[in-house]
Order: sequence, then structure tokens, then C-alpha cells
Amino acid sequence: MKTSRAIVLEAPGKMVLKEFPLPAIGPEEGLLKVEMVGVCGSDVGMYRGKATRAPRPYPIIMGHEIFGTIVEIGEEASKRWNLKEGDRAIVEYAFGCGECYDCKQGKYIHCEAMFTYGSMISCKDPPHLWGAYSEYLYLPPRAMVHKVSDHLPPEAGVLICAVLGNAIRWVQMIGGVSQGDIVVIQGPGQQGLAGVIAAREAGAKKVIVTGMTRDQIRFELAKTFGADEVVDIEKDDPVARVREITGGRMADLVMDVTGNPKGAITAIDLVKKKGTVILPGLYGMDREIPLVLDKIVYKEVRVQGAFSHDFRSVLPAIRLAESGKYPLEKMVTHRFPLKEAEKAIRVAGGEIEGEDPIKVVIIP
Ligand SMILES: [Zn+2]
Ligand SMILES: [Zn+2]
Repeated sequence: MKTSRAIVLEAPGKMVLKEFPLPAIGPEEGLLKVEMVGVCGSDVGMYRGKATRAPRPYPIIMGHEIFGTIVEIGEEASKRWNLKEGDRAIVEYAFGCGECYDCKQGKYIHCEAMFTYGSMISCKDPPHLWGAYSEYLYLPPRAMVHKVSDHLPPEAGVLICAVLGNAIRWVQMIGGVSQGDIVVIQGPGQQGLAGVIAAREAGAKKVIVTGMTRDQIRFELAKTFGADEVVDIEKDDPVARVREITGGRMADLVMDVTGNPKGAITAIDLVKKKGTVILPGLYGMDREIPLVLDKIVYKEVRVQGAFSHDFRSVLPAIRLAESGKYPLEKMVTHRFPLKEAEKAIRVAGGEIEGEDPIKVVIIP
């Protein structure tokens, strides 16, 4: 019997290498050979047992930033996904149960059952392979699978769903950034860097990125992706600096992807009257953040949460990645084999001294 090796998170802080039988693939299903999987910040949170939207169904195979090759596909699935064996594909994080109120409206990322890869389905029962820290990944009928070009670097393939599809949804579709807008991105990590690209592509007049003194490499990459100004908040007051850069106008849209509650607080001061603040960063489900709500009232600011990517944002993200216009793969700084998944998580979480990761990936 053929098997797949996978890294299983049995409990917070406990990762073990296990072997699972490959599932039999029916007419509506598929099997992906995982070529590369990104380590998401939320994987680090899961490893540390961070509080989230619901209890985790351990044991879990993590991994939801997925790039691979189709090795087996049913006849119906082949028609639906326009894929055949040997094609390269990416897979969205969420796919939904198809039965709940949100799924029925097509809002599968808000599925009540939280059907997603690498986080909310246990690997205890067959078909087991619900995460991409694994040699193979199971593709159920509802999986959101997209064909990508054979010429696309695997790094860019991973980053389509990991960051680019998110940024297009958060900055353009939810944030509504348009021609001539001024955009401030707080936090020059992978999500912030993709945010720069999404803002640039939407026609923003000025893109300003804020970060810390240790973010020099990220600042350089932000400029490569089209940032006009970078602000080191350890040297300059970001509010004063953005006021200066914008001639007092402030930002039409501010996106905080620092993951630090202080970023959300500063965002309210950086945005203009009637502007928009996008909050996609996860601050911790058990963390309360003091905001002066009257600032939001007087300025009539729209404060908008944002979560993940969907079909509508992934399609333009694929086109953008395939165009080769931006050197996305430069974001990938660290690569690990499957058996070193735990080290990959710890590097991504900033636990290893001397390592300064932007994007960490695992090659199963
Ligand atoms: Zn993620
Ligand atoms: Zn559902």
C-alpha cells in the first residue's frame, strides 16, 4: 500500500512524523503531490497553542499555503477543475462544507464548520491528509483548486494564496483602493509586502510602509515592489511623518499587518477623515485593545476586519504572479525539508537567534 509521510501536530508544541495510507480517489476527488508549502504565521500560533476562533481538533496536519502537482484525479473532478494528472496547481485555504448558511451563499471562507486545510479538520480519520506538511494532500470535491503555469516558480506558487490573494482581497476588494489614493501599510512582513503590490496595482498614488529599525531588508523589498516611502517608527513618529509626506492629507487607507495591537491604535491616527482602516492581522482572541473610539466617530473612519482570500481574489493573484511583473520569490528566505518542519516553525516564529525570515517554506 502506498503511503504519505506527514508531520502531525498532536498537541501544542508536539510535532511528530507519521505515515498515512493514501486515500482511494473517487470520480469527484483528487490527490496532490505537495511540492512546496508555506509556513503561515497562524501555523506558529497553532504550534504555540494561541487562542483562536474555535478549539483545535488535534491531531492536525498543518499547512495551508499549497503548491503541488496533480498525481491522481477523478473524471468529474478533472472537468470541474480543468486539471489533469501532471498539471501544477495551487489550492485555497478554505473550501467550506457546502451545507451551512454561509457556504450556500458562496461565502465558504466563513463556513460555520470552518472546513479549511491545515487547521480545523483532524487527521485522525481517513482520508487523513487535510494539511500540506505532508508528501500528499487529499482534494475533496469542494476543494478550490487552480491550475497554474508550468513556468511559475514554486515560491511564487505558494505566495499566490499565502499573501497575494489576501492582499488583493484586503486592499482592493474590501479596502476599495483606487487611482490616486494614498495607502499606508504598517508592517513590512510578507502580508505587508504583498499589500504594497496590491496597492500599486490598484493605482495608488503613494504607498508608504512603516516598520522597525531591524526591517531594513524588508524596507528594500518594499521599495522593489513599489513603495514610495518607508518610515522607521523607532526613529520617526509615523503620524508626524505621514502628515509631512501627504501634506497633511493623511491616508485614504491604512492596513495594519504588524500583529501588534499598537499598530491598530496608530492606524486610527494615520487615516484621513472618512478613510478606511483594514485589520487583517490576528492580535489574539484573548487580547483586548484600548482604542479611543471618539477618534473613529469624529473622523467617520471605517474600521474593517479582513480574513483570508477567496476565489475572486485568487484568480487575479494567479494572473499577476504568472506575469512575472514582481519578483515574488525574493520574499522566500528560508527552505526546510519535511522532517525539519518544527525548526521551520521556530524560525518563522522568530525563535532562532540570527535568523531574520520573511517567508519560510517546507519542501516535502
Ligand atoms: Zn495562513
Ligand atoms: Zn459551510
